[in-house]
Amino acid sequence: MTKSRSFFLSKSQFTRGLQCHKSLWLFKNKPELRAEPNAALQARFDAGTEVGILAQQLFPDGVTLEYSSGISRNISSTSELITQGTGTIYEATFSHDNVLAMVDILHKGPDGWELYEVKSSTESKDIFINDTAIQYYIVAGSGLTISRVFLVHLNNGYMRLGDLDLQKLFTIDDVTDLTLSRQAGIPQLLADMRKTLKEGEPAIDIGPYCTEPYECDFMPYCWHHIPECSIFDIANLRNNRKFALYNSGILHMRDIPPDFSMSEKMQLQVEAELTGREFVNIRNIKEFLKTVTEPVGFLDFETFMEPIPSFDFQRPYQQITFQYSLHILDNCKLSHHEFLGRPDEDPRRALIEKLLAEQRSCRTILVYNKSFEISRLQEIARDFPEFASEIESITARIGDLMVPFRNRDYYVKEMCGSHSIKYVLPALVPELSYDNLNIADGKAAMLAYAKLAAISAAAEKEKIRQDLLAYCRLDTLAMVRIWQKLLALTQPRQQLSLF
Ligand code: SF4
Repeated sequence: MTKSRSFFLSKSQFTRGLQCHKSLWLFKNKPELRAEPNAALQARFDAGTEVGILAQQLFPDGVTLEYSSGISRNISSTSELITQGTGTIYEATFSHDNVLAMVDILHKGPDGWELYEVKSSTESKDIFINDTAIQYYIVAGSGLTISRVFLVHLNNGYMRLGDLDLQKLFTIDDVTDLTLSRQAGIPQLLADMRKTLKEGEPAIDIGPYCTEPYECDFMPYCWHHIPECSIFDIANLRNNRKFALYNSGILHMRDIPPDFSMSEKMQLQVEAELTGREFVNIRNIKEFLKTVTEPVGFLDFETFMEPIPSFDFQRPYQQITFQYSLHILDNCKLSHHEFLGRPDEDPRRALIEKLLAEQRSCRTILVYNKSFEISRLQEIARDFPEFASEIESITARIGDLMVPFRNRDYYVKEMCGSHSIKYVLPALVPELSYDNLNIADGKAAMLAYAKLAAISAAAEKEKIRQDLLAYCRLDTLAMVRIWQKLLALTQPRQQLSLF
């Protein structure tokens, strides 16, 4: 590999600096403080790479410059390829003003060189223009005239039928004017970043920019002084109001001034946090329980999403249901049913056929956050219309066990402002826990299912399948226990804070 010179900035470092100068400084000077990308974030990076490589086929027969060849070598190779009349270069590499850019696709169009930036999202976003703007600045500054600038992204209106149709899978937006409109500001932005990097660690405190537009990977370092259950955990309090409190020196809920206006639900959360009081609205819980009739099913779906559809009747990032667990409670008798698909085939048809057969006895089907399960069922009905009428009969019987918790009809401080089942379960049913499971949330389930497709060892495959089944089974068993706890709460008891 050719030894590469080091550059002041790369494109991604420039966009990092736009978000926060301290993030750029830390990245350059104390990279060991960065949080490692978690499995979900790593999967997103991998998906981005996969989309980028596929998008190259929109302009086939180009020349790829491999990163492993070294930056300096790739800069000179780019120049040579252009001189030789090459029509398309993937990862064309340029430097100007000591800033480095690698262009996803550089293509010679009818009016001259065109620059294509590929994104794995399903829409053009304004922040992407920062990427194209710095690239244009570098490429044009290095002496190559660019005629047009484009953003390539996925089209979520595309549905696969047979072979992938790349012209329909991708949408290409002309962002030339937007890109040009940002050129004048770039020299000053770069000068400011240069100044920051010449000095010591910037004294920048935390702010809304820590999570916007991207979650900063230095948050564990910069946010270490924020206590557990702080003002940042008040559910539904807008970010600007949280930072107004923080900037006036308030971190703990106990220090919130009495004249700080909050909704009833926020006040209830703060009071529970400060007093440890249990809030139970018996009347509302009874009303909710009246809407449920036995036999009652407790249903939970697991889904995966992928940017590039693998199966017919699948769209980019469509949530594909690959697993369910169904507990049925009938006159104190609990039975269990489940389904887990095979990752090498579309799981939806087999899943819905089994579910339709198994749920028939249920007069109510409880889920947790019904908009999720109903949307998945409606999508299956749309893509497999032969099941539509039976699916409609399921959605008509669905009730939402999340409602009493979302409405704060039951609340204790252990729920930390959340009504997610992951917080409600330990608060109400501490003896049942996700702690000992190898898969403990939906994202982990999605990644495990994707991993199933990639491994061939039978024993390892079976272990992952059992982990997935155990996780989904616990989700619906948790719902059964929470339901029973709600029933018990409506029985006479003492020492409760009722309202
Ligand atoms: S966590 Fe916030 S303050 Fe710290 S570097 Fe990142 S964006 Fe800047």
